[in-house]
Amino acid sequence: MKSLRGQKMVIATHNKGKVPEIAALLEPYGVEVTSAGELGISEPEETEATFKGNALLKAHHSAKASGLPALADDSGLAVEALDGKPGIYSARWAVKDGVRDFSYAMEKVNDELGDSDNRTARFICALALVWPDGEEVCVEGFVEGDIIWPARGDKGFGYDPVFQPKGFDITFAEMEPQRKHEMSHRADAFKKLVELVFADDR
Ligand code: IMP
Repeated sequence: MKSLRGQKMVIATHNKGKVPEIAALLEPYGVEVTSAGELGISEPEETEATFKGNALLKAHHSAKASGLPALADDSGLAVEALDGKPGIYSARWAVKDGVRDFSYAMEKVNDELGDSDNRTARFICALALVWPDGEEVCVEGFVEGDIIWPARGDKGFGYDPVFQPKGFDITFAEMEPQRKHEMSHRADAFKKLVELVFADDR
């Protein structure tokens, strides 16, 4: 695996919130970060059927366009009794009359579950790192929990108010953000990526 120490890297996202968060995670490894948004790189359509497929698609697109190593993520909620739905469609489930509304998406999850005893769900985060020559690594991180109803809490975002991690009696939306960030699917994926790619750069 090629070292990334002292290199510039592009985060394949147009989400301004994600860039500083990822930059902070990479700082200990001496990596300088820019973003696809900053470089004016277009956002490709997410046409793959898996989180890993979409993360790789986005990272390849930005690596090719920028000539820099590119990191992309793709994440969502998978509910066991719904055969993994909403899955890669997690963001799309929230669109109602052209507007994004997660209370609508959460209600849809609860309605589809009906009186199912199995409320188990997991958040999944795929992280893909692609070099301009096409070399790639991709990892997946998870956090397990249960879908609760009614929704509780006003911290966090997306499906956080209905997701109660296993072993806790509060939802992600009731938890201090710092605590959530330590145990989230994104934290798990980053840990795995760091093991694979940055272990020798510390
Ligand atoms: P994306 O990977 O940023 O496209 O996120 C996909 C969707 O997954 C988001 O819009 C949320 O609906 C959902 N999602 C991903 N991570 C989380 C999380 O940590 N909490 C709540 N919802 C999440």
